[in-house]
Amino acid sequence: MKHIWTSLLTLTEELGFTISFKDDMSRPYSVNGNFEVKNEFLHINMYNAEVCELEKIVTLAHELGHGKHALEFSSLSEYSDTYYQNIVPFEWQAWLYAEEILKNTSFDQWDYFFKDREACYNRYKLSIEEPEKAFWYYLQEEAQKMEEYIQECM
Ligand SMILES: [Zn+2]
Repeated sequence: MKHIWTSLLTLTEELGFTISFKDDMSRPYSVNGNFEVKNEFLHINMYNAEVCELEKIVTLAHELGHGKHALEFSSLSEYSDTYYQNIVPFEWQAWLYAEEILKNTSFDQWDYFFKDREACYNRYKLSIEEPEKAFWYYLQEEAQKMEEYIQECM
């Protein structure tokens, strides 16, 4: 899977995006990502990328999906402005592009991908429609991952 990760990093560079890696202590057992647009540059932040190889690949593919979608707009800032009025459909579009991006690599963990896509998308939808419920799910998810992590370490 290492070469899939490498090819995603190459694509990031080819599209003219930058990336940085950080820790997210509030979310210690999940890989997380986001993008920001500043002065017509798109920057991807990856959090806890060391936690899980598969999760980090799917997460970066999703963030690159946002990037590919953004390139369809007349400017990156137009994309990010439009994003905040259309979060749910834009999230789904990023996932469609993520699938396309991974299909161009030797990625073959599609069961994981589709499950993760559904979970992330539904979480986003819920966080807009029912933020308190979404936060509760997030806590449960982190607790479950912590349990898996502890079991792996024993
Ligand atoms: Zn997203």
